[in-house]
Amino acid sequence: MRRKFVAGNWKMHGSLAENQTLLSQLARGLKGSESLDIAVFATAPYLFQCKSLLASTPLNWGAQNMSQYSQGAYTGEVSAQMLQDFSCKYVIVGHSERREIFSENNSVVADKFAQALKAGVTPILCVGESLQQRESGVAEAIISEQIQAVLNVVGVSGFAHSVIAYEPVWAIGTGKTASPEQAQEMHAAIRAQLAKENENIAANMQILYGGSVKPGNAADIFAKPDVDGALVGGASLNANDFIQICKAAS
Ligand code: PEP
Repeated sequence: MRRKFVAGNWKMHGSLAENQTLLSQLARGLKGSESLDIAVFATAPYLFQCKSLLASTPLNWGAQNMSQYSQGAYTGEVSAQMLQDFSCKYVIVGHSERREIFSENNSVVADKFAQALKAGVTPILCVGESLQQRESGVAEAIISEQIQAVLNVVGVSGFAHSVIAYEPVWAIGTGKTASPEQAQEMHAAIRAQLAKENENIAANMQILYGGSVKPGNAADIFAKPDVDGALVGGASLNANDFIQICKAAS
């Protein structure tokens, strides 16, 4: 039985004071939600704040990005080992904003995924197609390619310790959500791709949906059998919205 997982991607938002308010509201509002996996993803300077403020709560925290290299002369980068050093549980790799704005291709994303696994940090692999790719009928092929690139590097066993987030690019931060049926269709395709390699790993894989998830649409999306939760951007900055989304999943 897969647990539902709700992850909040704060993107490049927050301050010490704002985070403190948000984290304490979340800790209060999500007391007793141990049946659910919940995590927030802050920018690197605030990870330590998340660690200390969430220490005795059921909430986890993770990083939004990391380096594809293990260490060395890579000014400005943060390695998976550094994340692991202070018990960071998760790291997002391959978010579409990283792929698009920072030109991360499938190969870089696969290397990041592998580094995270090696350090013992659970990667959340984001995959997603653009609007043009969906309209030209290649959405499933694009997602399959993004997953295959990681399979080629870590093999299916690497996926036993990971999470996948299907995030159609056209739905991120746009207010447009994939319909529950569109999400289910892609999630089932992702699970089927993994099942070809290992049925057990596929059956246990948490596959999250991301793209304008809000309190008003979360329950319908979570009702689909292959949707195991959500990666939430904008709505994760509002404590009430994020709490309601978590409640819809529990
Ligand atoms: C995201 O950033 O991963 C995301 C899904 O954003 P939003 O919920 O704002 O669309």
